[in-house]
Formats: sequence, C-alpha cells, structure tokens
Amino acid sequence: MAVRPILRMGNPGLRRPASPVPVEAISCREVQILIDDLVDTMRAARGAGIAAPQIGCDKRICIVEVDRNPRYPELEPIGLSVWINPELEVRHDAASVSMLEGCLSVPGIRGRVERPGAVLLRAWDRDGQPVEATFSGLSACVVQHEVDHLNGILFVDRADTRTLAFHDRPGGEQDKAFHA
Ligand code: ZN
Repeated sequence: MAVRPILRMGNPGLRRPASPVPVEAISCREVQILIDDLVDTMRAARGAGIAAPQIGCDKRICIVEVDRNPRYPELEPIGLSVWINPELEVRHDAASVSMLEGCLSVPGIRGRVERPGAVLLRAWDRDGQPVEATFSGLSACVVQHEVDHLNGILFVDRADTRTLAFHDRPGGEQDKAFHA
C-alpha cells in the first residue's frame, strides 16, 4: 500500500478514456494493490474520491468515501466504495443539482457545476461482485465527478467558468466544496 503522486491538469493521462478491467482480472494482485493505493492516496489527500487515471493508471476504477463534514453538511456520507467499470444511467425525472466542486488534479481551484440530480450506477466491486445503486442530490455529483475522470473529463470542462476561483480567496462560499 502506498500514497501515490496525483497527476495534475495538463497531464495527458487525465484526458484519455481509461480501459475497462476484465472481470476475471479484478482479483489479481496488480488490481488489488492499485485499489489499496487509491484508498491510501485519497485519504492522504483528504479527497471525497479518486479515480485510477489520477494516479497514472489506465484502468476504469474509481473510489468514493464521504464522511460527514461540516464544510458540506448537505452531502450524505458514503461508505468506502470501490467501483470497477462503472456505468451511469441518468435519471431524467430528477431536477439538476448545482454544487461547488474541486479536484485533487486541479489543486486550489473551485467552481460551480450543474449536474443531473440522480444517477443509477452499475459496476463491479473489488470482490468481483456486481453493484447497483442510485445516488441523488449532492452524492450524485460526487459519483459523476469520479466517473467523468474515467472518460477523460475534468470538472472544469463542465463548470460555469465565471464561478472558477481559487479556494483561498476570501469570501466563504468557496470553502463549501468537495474535492475528488
Ligand atoms: Zn477530480
């Protein structure tokens, strides 16, 4: 297990769609070590999630872990979740949600992103078992942020660019953001 360096915006590794992991390969040592490294790296960086391309691995694996946090009390906690080859289906019946986002790969910058308010996620977990779960509200934003990383998309691509700001800017609201 290890904390790995996080790629920053401008690195082409963040812009390539990642490759699927064959389900029979999930149990192999290389994949399991990668997952452990993702957990260590996310926790060390105090992120709400991280995706394999952010540590330079071309694999469709992302993880999320959201603790209750006074900075974003509206965000429901999500226990440590590992998603391999995740697919998202947008629930068009839900109203969209807008949230300040940040990214471990875009340090210091926050911006407001509007996203679909509910998604159905299908993936495999680290034991090779199928997972299906619906996320709504701000949780849906975190999940979409992570899956975007697997498709080479960063939150700045989706942000209202006029809201982009350095998070140490005086004025409060910028602090109410997750980064992942
Ligand atoms: Zn990110």
